[in-house]
Amino acid sequence: PVPEPLLRIEGLTAGYGGAVAVDGLSLSLAAGEAVALLGANGAGKSTLLKAILGLVPLRGGGLWLDGEAITTLTPEKRVRRGLGYVPEGRRVFPGMSVRDNLEVASPLGRAARADDLERVFALFPDLAGKAAERAWRLSGGQQQMLAVGRALMGRPRLLLLDEPSLGLSPKLAGEVFGAVRSIAAAGTTVLVAEQSAARALAATGRAVLMRLGRIVHDGPADRLPEDALREAFLGG
Ligand code: ATP
Repeated sequence: PVPEPLLRIEGLTAGYGGAVAVDGLSLSLAAGEAVALLGANGAGKSTLLKAILGLVPLRGGGLWLDGEAITTLTPEKRVRRGLGYVPEGRRVFPGMSVRDNLEVASPLGRAARADDLERVFALFPDLAGKAAERAWRLSGGQQQMLAVGRALMGRPRLLLLDEPSLGLSPKLAGEVFGAVRSIAAAGTTVLVAEQSAARALAATGRAVLMRLGRIVHDGPADRLPEDALREAFLGG
């Protein structure tokens, strides 16, 4: 039999008021996959991530994590089942130390928390060197890494990242995507929404292109047809 995907999305529809932002979308992610979710501003990428987490209500369709329906679960319960989410805009607690930012994000007990802290510091050596600094003193790239680190403290099986390179210099964005690659290599499934396609494609194995709430292309990240990209971003 075909193995159950880690995440299965069937016919998902979500929107705001009279507007549909995600329109009957179906998508499956295998365990350990790193997937770039690409598309122009307003294509529906953020709404899809929020719908997976349960932050926007579904108007139709369903979601299964490892074969179990999560469609009606609260966001907290979805996180407990293995979802991690890094919203757009690097939300960290600026007045708290780097270490405290990470520790308060952990839903686990003391021993597991210490383990996870070590793993995050191994992944982001820059953060380890600044463990006692207040988060506001970090650079933008380091704050983004801290935001990603916070999501990893829950040991997610699926990490959802919304525009992690937004507002970062090319060098820092490159570092963030280097981390994305390491996270996926360590076995965590990653779905990363991005407007800057090139960097996301270099860090992932599969590219899903969205336009007007629908998937217009789904294939290997290293063989993305230019006309598909053009259609997603410019409308063909
Ligand atoms: P971005 O990169 O700007 O986040 P996106 O691809 O993630 O773009 P969404 O943010 O999901 O796209 O937006 C999809 C559609 O839903 C757009 O038409 C947008 O205007 C609309 N939309 C998004 N958030 C809201 C909201 N809170 N209220 C009303 N409409 C919204």
